[in-house]
Amino acid sequence: MSEKRTVLVTGGNRGIGFEICRQLALKDFRVYLTARDYKKGTKAIEQLSKQNINVTFLQLDVSSIESVNNAVKNFKEMSDYLDVLINNAAILIDDNPLASLSDESLSIILDTNVVGTFRVMRAFFPLMKSGSRIINVSSSAGQLNSMRTYAPAYSISKAALNALTLQASAAFAAKGIAVNSVCPGWVKTDMGGKGAPRSLEKGAETPVWLATETPIGLTGKFFKDRKEIPW
Ligand code: NAP
Repeated sequence: MSEKRTVLVTGGNRGIGFEICRQLALKDFRVYLTARDYKKGTKAIEQLSKQNINVTFLQLDVSSIESVNNAVKNFKEMSDYLDVLINNAAILIDDNPLASLSDESLSIILDTNVVGTFRVMRAFFPLMKSGSRIINVSSSAGQLNSMRTYAPAYSISKAALNALTLQASAAFAAKGIAVNSVCPGWVKTDMGGKGAPRSLEKGAETPVWLATETPIGLTGKFFKDRKEIPW
């Protein structure tokens, strides 16, 4: 019997991350749903277990190196390999126009959305074998070809995240690991708001496709709705 594929999702307690966990568990992955808050994480696990979906909880705050290292340690007690890493956790805490954006807001947003993703990627990379995948949940807000004034700190962070995707894709190619960015579209979540047109199911669709269906040679790209989009 072949071993189950493993996936770890950051920010899995709500929104798109939660839905990605749900969909991948239904595709027979061993899912590690991670969250920075223990209570919120365990509540998410209970919610899934009521639907007869079993996933494993790990506490992981992407903004803390101690937390990331602890998560790796705890993960290794349960599994010695990771097939798919989905860097989904992000914040959009300040959409002030550029001229009134504070240093602090920009730093906090970059630390979670970019450095946080890097911390997690670097920490789990040794557990990833040839044929593994890293999926960075980005946003069309980070597309340089159309960037204007929308949420400056968040948009800058997503452009930097896309640069991280390209760097990692090139750096990890020799090990046979695919690294891609994905925009889930405008999704009805706490971040997207109630007016967003997309369901969670639709928002999770392309990240799940990248986790399961695309050839491993497809790397260093940015996708939306299963199609490549410009950086
Ligand atoms: P959300 O509902 O605001 O959920 C964000 C998740 O990230 C929560 O689980 C949150 O945990 C977690 N998180 C934040 N900081 C964290 C940290 N330091 N460590 C670990 N987890 C942390 O957002 P969403 O709409 O589902 O967004 C998911 C991804 O899609 C993000 O990368 C976002 O930028 C991207 N995206 C969303 C939209 C949209 O329309 N919704 C559009 C484009 C891109 P807590 O519950 O503890 O806060």
